[in-house]
Formats: sequence, C-alpha cells, structure tokens
Amino acid sequence: MLIDKLWELQELQLDYRRKERLLEESNLSSLLSHKIDETEQQLAGLREQLETFRADEVRIGEKLDDLSAKVHEAGAKLGKEEMSEDKVQKLEEKMKKLTLEKEKVEDAQGRNFHDRQDVEDQTRASELLAEKLRKELESIPQLNATSRAAVKKSLPTLRKEIENRKAKLPLKAKLIFESLSEKFSGAPVARVASSTCDYCHVRLPQKTLFSLRNVEGRSGDAEELIRCEICGKILYAGIKDRE
Ligand SMILES: [Zn+2]
Repeated sequence: MLIDKLWELQELQLDYRRKERLLEESNLSSLLSHKIDETEQQLAGLREQLETFRADEVRIGEKLDDLSAKVHEAGAKLGKEEMSEDKVQKLEEKMKKLTLEKEKVEDAQGRNFHDRQDVEDQTRASELLAEKLRKELESIPQLNATSRAAVKKSLPTLRKEIENRKAKLPLKAKLIFESLSEKFSGAPVARVASSTCDYCHVRLPQKTLFSLRNVEGRSGDAEELIRCEICGKILYAGIKDRE
C-alpha cells in the first residue's frame, strides 16, 4: 500500500538526516578538540609568564629592602657623626643617588604588579574558555574515525535508495510527501496511536478513523492518503490498527 511505502520512505529519510547530523557533530567535535589544545597551549605560556613575574617580584623586593637599609644607614651616619663639610656633602650625594635608585626600583615594582595582573586576567579568561569548550565537547556524542568513515560511506547509497523510492511514487503523492517533509523536518507521516495523531496528540474524528481502517480496494494513488485535520501530516495506522 502507498501509505506503507511512505512510512518506509520516512524511516529512511530520518535515518539519513540522523547520520548527516552525526557527521556534523563529529566535525564540530574535532574542531572543539583542536580549540581546546590551542587554549591549553596559551595557558601554559601564560602560567610561565606568571612564574617569571613572581620571581621578579621577589628579586625586586629584596633589592628594595637592601636599598632602604642603605639609605637608612647613611641617614643615621649623617645625623650622628662629626664630619667634615666635604664628607657630609659626599654622604648627602650618596643618599640622593640611593633614593633615586630606590624610586626606580619602586617604579619597576609597580609595573611588574600591573603587568602581572594583566596576565592573571588573561589566564582566568583562558581557563574559563577551556572549561566551556570541554563542557561543549562532552555534550556531543563521540564518533571514532572508523564509525565516522562508515557513516560517511553509507550516505550516498542511502540517498540513492531514497531517490529511487521517491521516483516510483505517484507524482501527486511524491509532491505531498516532499512538501510536508520540508515542513516537518523530514517526517511528513504521523502514526496513529489510540485513535490519536501521534504528532499533535489530537483525537481523530470517527470518520477519519473509519477511513483509516477501510483500506481495502484502494487505488494506490494520492487520493487514498488520509491527513490529520489539525497538523496536516499524512496519517499512518500500523497494519495491526487497520484490522
Ligand atoms: Zn496531527
């Protein structure tokens, strides 16, 4: 019967779509893996930079302590000891030099702190990105290379089979099937279960149920197709439901 052919055709069509989607997801998943690797590499670089910043910070801190001690020492000397004018002048010059050097080192400390914060922000952003990508990857079904190749190989045959079957349909039925396929993502036929359209879940009128059951002596063309009055899908009652 025509409706059985349409039902089978729909199964093939949905199988084709499912496989196509699987391949798309598989492409996406290798893309994501690649992006995760890239982000991890970036992170490793950033963490290395942070290490350097921390080492620099320690070094700068030590230098500052040292300079502060020297300035303090010179200051103490200047206040206490009796010394010649010449010596006082020299000591004051030394202090001036030390203070200038200290300022420079303090500047370097500030820069180091600022740059380090930048790198810390970048690190956090990269960590978040890597986590997000990993979650995204986890949500995608994984397909190994072998099954991927098998799915890819099966598609043209499946496509051909679908086209062949469509070509054998009465023209009007084919047109209805195709336009409804477009409208309903490849599923133009709805099963009838417990007197209800399985797609829109609306109870079918007696007249429709009667037509579904009385399939004897059908001509095999589009006229015999029964559609749901609500959603418009072609209705399919399994063989058992027709008896
Ligand atoms: Zn319906």
